[in-house]
Order: sequence, then structure tokens, then C-alpha cells
Amino acid sequence: MKLYNTMSKKKEEFVPVEEGKVKMYVCGPTVYNFIHIGNARPMIVFDTVRRYFEYKGYDVNYVSNFTDVDDKIIKKANEEGVSADEISARYIEECKKDMEGMNIKPATTHPLATQEIDGMLVMIGMLIEKGYAYEKNGTVYFRTRQFQDYGKLSHKNLDDLRSGNRSLLVSGEDEKEDPLDFVLWKPKKEGEPAWESPWGEGRPGWHIECSVMSKKYLGEQIDIHAGGEDLVFPHHENEIAQSEAANGKDFSKYWMHNAFLNIDNHKMSKSLGNFRTVREISEQYDLQILRFFMLSAHYRSPLNFSGELMEASKSGLERIVNAADNLKYISENAKIESMTAEEKENLNQTAQFVKDFESAMEDDFNTADAIAAVFDLVKFANTTADAQGSKEYAKSLYELLVRLTDVLGLIVEKKEEILDTEIEALIAERQAARKEKNFARADEIRDELAAKGIVLLDTREGVKWKKA
Ligand code: AMP
Ligand code: ZN
Repeated sequence: MKLYNTMSKKKEEFVPVEEGKVKMYVCGPTVYNFIHIGNARPMIVFDTVRRYFEYKGYDVNYVSNFTDVDDKIIKKANEEGVSADEISARYIEECKKDMEGMNIKPATTHPLATQEIDGMLVMIGMLIEKGYAYEKNGTVYFRTRQFQDYGKLSHKNLDDLRSGNRSLLVSGEDEKEDPLDFVLWKPKKEGEPAWESPWGEGRPGWHIECSVMSKKYLGEQIDIHAGGEDLVFPHHENEIAQSEAANGKDFSKYWMHNAFLNIDNHKMSKSLGNFRTVREISEQYDLQILRFFMLSAHYRSPLNFSGELMEASKSGLERIVNAADNLKYISENAKIESMTAEEKENLNQTAQFVKDFESAMEDDFNTADAIAAVFDLVKFANTTADAQGSKEYAKSLYELLVRLTDVLGLIVEKKEEILDTEIEALIAERQAARKEKNFARADEIRDELAAKGIVLLDTREGVKWKKA
């Protein structure tokens, strides 16, 4: 299996640190709002990487954090007049709902930065002791130049960085020994969450949390560290400096980064106002379609989000779901039980699709080509299986299709059809439940309808609904 390593800028053969095991860490979102579709890209991509390793029989330990202490969270908390904890707890819960919709497996561990402060104090103390960090007026800085290999991931040269960062010298951080030094611990400001530390009350910098959580849950040496390409520098470069300086060992064998998701050919950003949350998309489409769309491109290619491409993904996925549904129907209703000789021969031929699928995935997780192999299987199934054939043949094809689509995290089970009259009845029941302040039942009905692809819209003229 080959994967592209940002560190060597090459595709490399995957050899795990420990036989049969994969230890991977994926930097998770900062939770101050609903996640956007850009955040969904690494989640979907690396969940698929995990699923493929599991398909190959590896035991995968997958860790992905939630950054629940950060300036943006504090700002949002102040705007709403609530605590930072309330904001992060709310959006972690919402993020988990979106993940479920996109069929992203929960991580083995989802650590929270605020629950790991003790470990951070230990690592920062260790770095100070080894001469890699120093304290000035309650702030602890990492002494970047002390770490000989700094820049090895992003392929940046320290002197170029220094000249490019002259502005840092006049930005109020002139207490630093060197403008390249970065923060490990910062002192408390009024109205901000803070923890006790040997350097006074304060809170950790962003980079230290990942070094600490990765070490705690996966050990000092891991197989894969991943995230979006914007994290290569400075976040991952700084993580390497901290972890390797503290542990005296190479941190991660492979570094994987997904390219960015753009929207209508523009960079997606809040200031441009072209920002789309996963939740918004879920009101229009089943999130399986978003997942299919994300996997239709290679993860290292920039991907453009547009209505047209989502429509194309919708029909692509429908083709697979319809084929699966057809196979299921035949496997339950055909008159013949066992495979004929011709069907046995046909089934042997499907080995080629599996081979194509696996070769695509083993070539740096080329999901676009893997999907093409699934379509070949679909076409083959549509032309060779029908109600005149056997149950056994249709069942074998169905199981094969499910096995491959499951690696991609795509659910091919058709959503149960629901009649308009049933929808109207449930909506009426929900209205009645709301009137009686039975919000639990009202929410239950909304979720039940959502699971069947029905979206409710509360409008001034009453509740309207549409099919996603
Ligand atoms: P953040 O909450 O900004 O730290 O982002 C969480 C994850 O989403 C990181 O791995 C980012 O690299 C990734 N990410 C953010 N925006 C995009 C985007 N537009 N396309 C792809 N990945 C993104
Ligand atoms: Zn991180």
C-alpha cells in the first residue's frame, strides 16, 4: 500500500510501526460553530483511510481531538453571554450529529483539550528542563532554533522564515528571544478560562494540545498524522518540534494532508459570505451525497463545491443504490435458489472489480478510481442479474457491492419510502406534541422524518416539508 508523505514529498510504501496496527491522529475542528463543508473534507477522507485499513485487517486506533479552548470560542461565548464551556459542548454535540449523517465512525478516542491540561503542563515543563522552552512574564515560548530539524515537514528554511516574519518583531511579542519562537502557554486575561500552572494562571497554546493528546492515546511514535493542508505550517511543524524535542523520537512516520474544498471556484471564507455548513447542506441533500461528492475526487486535489456537482453526485449514488436494491429484491424473490454454472463463471469475473478497487485504494487512496470500479461492478450486476437468475447469485453480488461501498462509508440501503399522508399525519402529531410542550416527542418526530429524508420547514404559514 502506498501513501503520499508530505514529509518526503513522495508516495511511500506503508509499513506500520507495530505489525498489524495503525495508530493515527487527525486534527479535529475548533468548536465555536456548526462545522462547515471544508471541515467535513478531512473527516470524510481520513474516515475512509481508516475504513480501508480495517478492510485490510489492521487494528486501527484512531484519535481525533476537539479544540475546545480558543480565542474564537471565547469570543462567541462573550457575544452570547454564556460560558466558553457551553459553546464548545453545544457545537461538539452538533458536530457529532453531522458526523453521523455523513456516516463517519466515531474515533476510538475524541479527546478534549480542556481535559488534558495536566499532560500539557508536564510536556511544557519537560521542554523547559531540556532547554527547548523558556518563560517570560507568564508566557512560555518554544525556542524554535534549538530544534535542529525545524522546517523539515513544510520544507521551509529558518532564515527565510525569519525574514518573512519581521513584522512579528513589532507586534508586541518583542519579549521573545527570537521572532520564530511560538507560544506554549499564555497568561490569563480577564474574562477568559484559565488553569493553574507553574508559570501562573493561564491557558495552553493550540499546538501543544495535539502533541500531548497524541502521546497519551497513541504513544510517542505513531503511524499517521493528518489534517487539512493549511495545518502543515505552522501547526504540524510546531507539533513535530514539541513532540520530538520532548520525547527524543521521530513523531509520526507518515504525514497526510487533504487539499482544500472551494466553493463556486472561490476560497470558502466567512468574510466572502460563501460559507456553507454541513447542517445547511443536510436540509437540501442526504449527507451520503455530500460524502459521495467528497470521495469523487482524489483527496490531494482541490475540490470545488457547486450545486451542479452535488446533483451529479446525487444521480451517481442513486445508480449504486438502485442496483443494490434490485439485487436485494432478486435475492429475496427469484425462483431459483442456487447459482447456475454460468452465474458461477460470472461471479468469478467480479474478482477483477475487487482488484481494481483495491489497486486504486492502495495507490494513495485514489477514491475516484475506486468509485469507478464500483460503477463497473454495478454495470455488470445490472446486465447479469435478473429475476430469472438465482437468489444465490444476486445475494453474492449484493454482498460484494456492500463490502466495497462500506469501505467508502456509503450506505446503499434504500431509505424506506414514506407516503405523503403519513408525513402529514406525523407533522400534525408533532404540532400537537409541541402545543402540549412535549418537545421530546416533537423532536423525535422531526428526527424520524429526517431519517426518511423529509425536511421540515417552520414558516409563517405553518410547517412545510420537502424531500431532501
Ligand atoms: P479548523 O477548525 O479550522 O482547525 O479546521 C479543522 C480541519 O478542517 C483542519 O484539518 C483543517 O485543515 C480543515 N479545513 C478547514 N477548512 C477547509 C477547507 N476549506 N477545505 C478542506 N479542509 C479544510
Ligand atoms: Zn493538531
